[in-house]
Amino acid sequence: LIQLYIPLNFLGVMYREIRQALTDIERMFGLLKTGREVEDRPDATELPAGALSVRFDRVDFHYDPKRQILHGVSFEVPAGKTIAIVGHSGSGKSTVARLLYRFYDVSGGAVYVGDLDTRAIKQDALRRAIGIVPQDTVLFNDTIRYNIEYGRPGASEEEILAAARAAQLHDFVAHLPDGYQTRVGERGLKLSGGEKQRVAIARALLKNPPILIFDEATSALDSKTEKAIQSQIEAAARGRTAIVIAHRLSTVMNADEILVLDGGRIVERGAHASLLSQNGPYAAMWALQQQEALETNT
Ligand code: ADP
Ligand code: MG
Repeated sequence: LIQLYIPLNFLGVMYREIRQALTDIERMFGLLKTGREVEDRPDATELPAGALSVRFDRVDFHYDPKRQILHGVSFEVPAGKTIAIVGHSGSGKSTVARLLYRFYDVSGGAVYVGDLDTRAIKQDALRRAIGIVPQDTVLFNDTIRYNIEYGRPGASEEEILAAARAAQLHDFVAHLPDGYQTRVGERGLKLSGGEKQRVAIARALLKNPPILIFDEATSALDSKTEKAIQSQIEAAARGRTAIVIAHRLSTVMNADEILVLDGGRIVERGAHASLLSQNGPYAAMWALQQQEALETNT
């Protein structure tokens, strides 16, 4: 009986560890309630090393069959380029990020990473290749250091500090009585929204993946900190494939291409200057935000 018990117990430990790793990832995305929707195919492959392109090909998607969310979304981010997605709240921006990370499978069309259909890629390979700063970061009830290091377990002290500096987090942490050993509390509640965002940015920068997604990653920051981080995000995105989802248009002016999403459809696309000259929805959003900026400054 003992001989049987030991291997079973060992399997139990492994199982718990695997479960925990999955739970951590799901917690980061607040997905525990929705559960895991996708499975690896038996013939799923690894991704090639190096830079990776991203392509959405006529993607349709619904969470609930009664309500379609994305309608024929097509775009390409060549390896090393930055694309921005803008649009009103509820237009489907975060859904695009979730489909790229393959939290859900598309209802129609396909998503490609490095020219491979994401359904043909091992999930852990796909998720290793993508760093995401989600819109609502949930931190682990552990130290600030642990929460940054989660991006790349085993990273050196110097690498962790460099990531924290790039995320404009270091000065804040250095002034805490317990520094990087400060515990962030359940779900990171002891930190402000902006501090949590900077921990998430540091984590993604430390992970150093070929593909980066920033989903309104600076929305909780004041405009001065946002500007300071902006240049770091642009530096991190350089030479990488990046998708920057933003509400404030001033943060995406330099993207290679900007997609304007409305009701789950791409209604406009182009570089900042050409979108302005089109005098369409982007130009209207830009004018409105310039107006708001003037009003808050006076
Ligand atoms: P955005 O990021 O542009 O604000 P989202 O992609 O988060 O928009 O959401 C697009 C639409 O999908 C919204 O109408 C939202 O209510 C809906 N939605 C988002 N997540 C879910 C979900 N898990 N289940 C059902 N509907 C969802
Ligand atoms: Mg969103």
